[in-house]
Amino acid sequence: MEQKELLRQLPAVDQLLQQSRLRDLSQADHQMILTITRRVLDDWRQRIKNGATTLPAPDQLAREIETRYGAASRSSLRPVINATGVVLHTNLGRAVLSPAAREAAVQAAGRYTNLEFDLENGQRGNRYSHVTGLLQELTGAEDALVVNNNAAAVLLALSSLARGRETIISRGQLVEIGGSFRIPEVMAQSGTRLVEVGTTNKTYLRDYEQALGPETALLLKVHPSNYRIQGFTREVTTAELVELGRRVGLPVMEDLGSGFLCDLESHGITGEPTVQAEVEQGVDVVTFSGDKLLGGPQAGIIVGRRDLVAVMARHPLTRALRVDKMTLAALEATLQAYRNPDRARQEIPTLAALTLTAPELRRRAEQLQVLVAGVLGTRARVGLIATTSQAGGGALPLTELPSWGVTIQPAQLGVTELALALRRTDPPVLGRVQEDLLILDVRTLLPGEGEELARALVQALEGGDKRYFQGSP
Ligand SMILES: *Cc1c(COP(=O)(O)O)cnc(C)c1O
Repeated sequence: MEQKELLRQLPAVDQLLQQSRLRDLSQADHQMILTITRRVLDDWRQRIKNGATTLPAPDQLAREIETRYGAASRSSLRPVINATGVVLHTNLGRAVLSPAAREAAVQAAGRYTNLEFDLENGQRGNRYSHVTGLLQELTGAEDALVVNNNAAAVLLALSSLARGRETIISRGQLVEIGGSFRIPEVMAQSGTRLVEVGTTNKTYLRDYEQALGPETALLLKVHPSNYRIQGFTREVTTAELVELGRRVGLPVMEDLGSGFLCDLESHGITGEPTVQAEVEQGVDVVTFSGDKLLGGPQAGIIVGRRDLVAVMARHPLTRALRVDKMTLAALEATLQAYRNPDRARQEIPTLAALTLTAPELRRRAEQLQVLVAGVLGTRARVGLIATTSQAGGGALPLTELPSWGVTIQPAQLGVTELALALRRTDPPVLGRVQEDLLILDVRTLLPGEGEELARALVQALEGGDKRYFQGSP
């Protein structure tokens, strides 16, 4: 057919909107459907001008409009099912909040609050006051301050306590943490001068002593997070560093990374110091994340000596890094749970996931296997596998968490194609590909997600309901 003839035969906008698939949508959201219809017709005009020789049937055009409408009305940020087994997955938003924390954030979001209002004396209040008491009680520190994230907490602490002067740190602790947070660069940004001591694998107290001078402002200890030097190694202990700080009259600061507030040794989780243990040993300033092992909202928590926290609270950066009401509400509710460690372990999803036992995980995997095998039939081989989950978030890097997963071996698709199809379902599902298997680790599945996951697998293996697939046919 000739180009001109094809263009002439493209249906008009009104004609398309009469299509039965579009009539209801058009009534519900007319302006949006109109815009998308025009765009789809424009695109086809362009395709014809570029040499396309056939016209889509009106029904196909309607489907294309529907697909684009679906994609346009869906949020970009949306829930996904985490079957990776990484409990604190930074790319998947780290900690899942407890029901109490979620509820508190919703309340704070939808109503006026006493965020900065003292209800007793009717005057301006302090937004941090809602959590300082709890942080003092739980960590044993004299005072506390909360900013946007731990990177911000470190920047603020160094800027307030050591700007224009020197900060001593061991070479073994000059680490980069995921997301390009590099200790030397943050130190440079804060205006303190980095004095590195010791070697990559061994640092002694005398190395710190020899580096002391009139310009020294701070002794800094950094948790190496997801990095470990093993073998022939030596780091100065917290107690030794605190003793040196006291002896020469300098504050000691520790960037702890994860904020571990409850001892889970009886659950086999070892090797991560608690915040209160570091405070008790006399560290003057401790910083940690709200959304790592603490299991709360994204935040940077600073606890420590009253005079030092006061200096930080007055620093202009504090205003720039301040946390919002939803974060404070969720953080307060999360911290409340820690008053009773057993309650914290059960209610805070991060701790609950970390302390699931292997037999319980196996039971859950078996249940999921039955469910999934039932709906998939001959479309895939569904198995059971003993696997290993990770804490993630730079915490417990060497701790192997024995777990169980369900394996999927698709009959028709390749396993990477299946993984891609699962990322396009609604909600998207993320698993782990290992050789020709897709592994779905049950440790990170939340209550009720099993059914959703089974539906997503059917969708993905069927080529799915096209509505959920990106791009036009
Ligand atoms: C994770 C981490 C940070 C950064 O914390 P965010 O809350 O992600 O900003 C800083 N220091 C250490 C040691 C960490 O593990």
